[in-house]
Amino acid sequence: MLYGSRFLTEDAPDGPFPEDGMSALDAMRLVDEEMVLEGDPWRNLATFVTTWMEPEAQRLIAENLYRNFIDHAEYPISAEIEQRCIRMLANLFNAPGETTGCRTQGSSEAIMLGALSLKWKWKQRREKESKPTDRPNLVFGGDVHVVWEKFCRYFDVEPRIVPLREDKYTIGPEDVEPHIDENTIGVAAVLGTTFTGHADDIVGIDELLVGLKGDKGLDVPLHIDGASGGFVWPFLYPDSKWDFRLEQVRSINVSGHKFGLVYPGIGWLIFREKTDLAEDLVFYENYLGKTDATFTLNFSTGASMVLAQYYNFVRLGRKGYTYVMKAMETNAKALAEKLEESGNFELIGADKEQLPLVAFKLVEGKSYDEFDVSWQLSAERGWMLPAYTMPPKAEEVKVLRALVKQTLSREQVDRLAGDLQTACETLDAKGGAHPSERHKMKASPGY
Ligand SMILES: *Cc1c(COP(=O)(O)O)cnc(C)c1O
Repeated sequence: MLYGSRFLTEDAPDGPFPEDGMSALDAMRLVDEEMVLEGDPWRNLATFVTTWMEPEAQRLIAENLYRNFIDHAEYPISAEIEQRCIRMLANLFNAPGETTGCRTQGSSEAIMLGALSLKWKWKQRREKESKPTDRPNLVFGGDVHVVWEKFCRYFDVEPRIVPLREDKYTIGPEDVEPHIDENTIGVAAVLGTTFTGHADDIVGIDELLVGLKGDKGLDVPLHIDGASGGFVWPFLYPDSKWDFRLEQVRSINVSGHKFGLVYPGIGWLIFREKTDLAEDLVFYENYLGKTDATFTLNFSTGASMVLAQYYNFVRLGRKGYTYVMKAMETNAKALAEKLEESGNFELIGADKEQLPLVAFKLVEGKSYDEFDVSWQLSAERGWMLPAYTMPPKAEEVKVLRALVKQTLSREQVDRLAGDLQTACETLDAKGGAHPSERHKMKASPGY
């Protein structure tokens, strides 16, 4: 092609498997040109997932892209680095002694594995007492991520979901208690919900479970879904107990690719003690000449993100992570203040321990809703700032949510606040952007 690229005037292949290939240059341009119109991560205030890493980390990632993490026999150093990360996380989460855990593709895989271990441990306890094992249930709030319901359906466990309320978006011991019985494999509590960024009353739930153990001999383990909060609370609220300092907390998942500050593709599952991992779920196999223990749903995957996680741990340390989290928190507070001052919005739970985000809604009496604001803001400046409805029993409440991450500088925060003000002025003048029926289905907060 002398002038421009082939796809200037041709459609991109999108159906049948291509018969002929093309030059590397054409292929690269074809994909590059498609990606130009992809969403811009710098304006993405919806995602919890990391969109920026330092060039040195990017180099490490690029240099190790070919490395299959699961080939422990060939790549023992990557496996050792995984173990270092697990020990550091266990320490960060205040494990009392020797622990075990694993890297996963994200918190979803970590939750599936953690919950499977709860199920197996429960089964073992029941079998020892010669009691039936056919009706396991799992207790959690309506404020959890969809993966918890997925686990229940995929692995045949009855979900006992505590509904939220119009004015309460997390759960506590009084909500959980009526749902627990001898078939309860565990309780899951969230540290940093996707809906408003708050935590369930983990201390209260732990107290309840400790009490049940004493009174009724029911040993119900507590799993903490710290997908987002697991890398926020230790640095912003180090004195707040939610982790292995609490007796019934037996396992924790955390997403390395959220506030662990690594690109997508890494999560962690950490057990309190080695015995909290059901031995039946570990497979020992002789693979490529070495006996290897595996506890995963996936098999082959890149080693790069494990190395990138280790890079962040040694690069930042506690002080560095604290600095980054505080910077985000400071900017989130600045945004929250501006939104409140504008008179258009009210904040949701801004006085409580929270992820570095701003959850807010319109003040009463507007002629348009939160979905209109989200749409108008995107139309005017391209910001992706989601609106959604809350989960069952609180679904009348509509929320807007802005993640305030490392990439959102104070200048951008000020601009965003101004743009939200302008969007409201536009909507004040012209009314709602579209009929409210259209977005009723789009209730997911996005992750
Ligand atoms: C993001 C998230 C998940 C799912 O985690 P992935 O790392 O995206 O698989 C689960 N629970 C909570 C609370 C989350 O925020």
